[in-house]
Amino acid sequence: MNKRILLVEDEPGLVLTLTDRLTSEGYQVESARDGEKGLERASSEAFDAIILDVMLPRKNGFDVCRDLRQRNVTTPILMLTARGQVVDKVVGLKLGADDYLTKPFEMMELLARVEALLRRAATPATSPAISSAETYQFDSIKIDFRRAEVDRDGQKIELSAKEFQLLRYFIEHREATLSRDELLNEVWGYDAMPTTRTVDVHVAWLRQKLEPNPRHPIYILTIHGMGYKFVG
Ligand code: CA
Repeated sequence: MNKRILLVEDEPGLVLTLTDRLTSEGYQVESARDGEKGLERASSEAFDAIILDVMLPRKNGFDVCRDLRQRNVTTPILMLTARGQVVDKVVGLKLGADDYLTKPFEMMELLARVEALLRRAATPATSPAISSAETYQFDSIKIDFRRAEVDRDGQKIELSAKEFQLLRYFIEHREATLSRDELLNEVWGYDAMPTTRTVDVHVAWLRQKLEPNPRHPIYILTIHGMGYKFVG
């Protein structure tokens, strides 16, 4: 079946050009002309990828992106930003976008990015785009992915390799409810022997190290009957 792409863009010319080109590449393209409509369609229908303009009437692309992720819509998102627009990649990724492309762009570049998004979505075990960001911060906690270091207000927090991988996975899947089985498979690997209890133990350790009050976590939430959700 053809991959379905939702294009959220208000410039009629660009909608036409992109729709034509993507359709000729074999994609099924639907479009929405403002942020509200885009959010509505992306939340209620299944798409394989979303191309989301930042400057949109009624609701901007960043807000659409954030709302989608809050609704647990995990469809990969490629954001289109205007030239000269200052985009803090890490902030953008925090909102849940997977990739960026600055306007004006070459059609080939867009096609390559869309293909990459779809490929990544097809292999969830590989790290999403946030792994290309070097740091991530929530409240006073800062994570340096390249150095594999975590600190709070400049004070280093010692994490084991597994704790760091688990935290990283949580950050990469921020706002998503993750089952213990998924965490076990993705962080420990399919061949690993540990049980889901291992996940609980590591989550407890992470909470001890990161949460202001580990008994009442505010970053790594327990979703009863489901698993965990990172909201830092
Ligand atoms: Ca626009």
